[in-house]
Amino acid sequence: MKRLLLLLPTTGYRNDDFLDAARNLDVEIITAANYCHQLAPLWGMSPIQSVHFDQPEVAVKQVLAALGRQPDAVLAVDDSGLELAALLREQLHLPGNLPAAVRVTRDKLAFRRLLQSGGLNCPDFYHLGNDSQTPALQAPLQFPVVVKARRLSSSRGVIRTDTPQAFREAVQWVQGIQVKADRDAAQLGLVVESFIPGREYALEGLLQEGRLRVLALFDKPDPLDGPYFEETLYITPSRLSQEKQDEIRQTVQQVCELAGISSGPIHAEMRLNEQGIWLLEIAARSIGGLCGRMLRHTLGMSLEELILRHALNLPLPQAQLDDAAGVMMIPVPRRGIFLGVRHLEDAMNIADISDIQITAHLGQTIAPPPEGASYLGFIFARGISPDAVDSALRQAHQRLVFEIQSVIPVSSYKGREAQNSHPILRP
Ligand code: ADP
Repeated sequence: MKRLLLLLPTTGYRNDDFLDAARNLDVEIITAANYCHQLAPLWGMSPIQSVHFDQPEVAVKQVLAALGRQPDAVLAVDDSGLELAALLREQLHLPGNLPAAVRVTRDKLAFRRLLQSGGLNCPDFYHLGNDSQTPALQAPLQFPVVVKARRLSSSRGVIRTDTPQAFREAVQWVQGIQVKADRDAAQLGLVVESFIPGREYALEGLLQEGRLRVLALFDKPDPLDGPYFEETLYITPSRLSQEKQDEIRQTVQQVCELAGISSGPIHAEMRLNEQGIWLLEIAARSIGGLCGRMLRHTLGMSLEELILRHALNLPLPQAQLDDAAGVMMIPVPRRGIFLGVRHLEDAMNIADISDIQITAHLGQTIAPPPEGASYLGFIFARGISPDAVDSALRQAHQRLVFEIQSVIPVSSYKGREAQNSHPILRP
């Protein structure tokens, strides 16, 4: 029986999907989790507990000491465990991406340097250290620019600014967000880069011995112009020309080679404009949230099963359908306490809607980006065309009514008023 070590994050959306896929494949599962054993839900598999994923050099020793029989594969469920998984694989002489490669893709500054060194499209950027008291925009950058935390995800700590005052305030705000979310914040500093105009796309892929197989290319049909960058719709297949889709695949393949990412799932985000393809990021993991569920039908199995099969060297399905599918990551409209949702059944009854999962918990404090990194839930659709899916998702979202009790914001951001071309918080 094959043995799989799974790294489970505390707040992962997909722990259960990975565990289900592993059970389906009849493999022995051992889990290592970064939550406290006293608070942990019971996974029933004697997990290795309280592992600090954010201190991978320490955690690797703890996991190795508790591991027992050598696993056939080590997989991280999300970003937080990627580096530890790579270190473990290296120590256990298992194939997979090396820690250095994973580190480059986890760090927005290192990734920009990589693109620049490879001569790929890359916005002007610089590293803003924590020591700058009154940061002013450095040449050659000109407004608009994007201020970013180094290693956060889901658009957390990412703000577009258009004026010097908004820039100063955004820097302060992002620094505060990074301090709360990343234990290394004191050393990291931020990234400042030129705003890249254009439409955004995402590619879901699987690397097999360095070769990229595209599992899906997604359109993000709504413009994402900031100042905050909340994800909403992902629709596949893309409505881009085949030529552009091929170009995207080639660029992603090229950057994976440059980064040294050669194995397993990848999720890439990019913008397109007259100057070509601009990669925002490549992550050595699959799509976040519950979004991967929209690909079950086209892949003929769950995305998690496909990933596990690849990791465990089990046969992979080659064929995939190109039916239209989509997901809406239900945006958090404003900061507050989530009290519930109404008209769920109405929304479910809309043609082409295949599922709606509300993942926010009653009583949970929620916030939109750049502070929050979670969604209210996910709406899934399947239909005869991308347009049909797009329209079903929007209709379903319109029917849902979310009850959110207001709370006083923990951080204020005066730049909101300054950037009046971009209304900040929706009512
Ligand atoms: P995360 O890993 O948190 O998703 P990204 O760097 O991918 O961080 O940025 C999140 C979103 O912010 C992107 O999907 C994009 O919409 C927007 N964004 C980030 N950088 C830029 C940029 N330089 N120009 C335009 N938009 C950007």
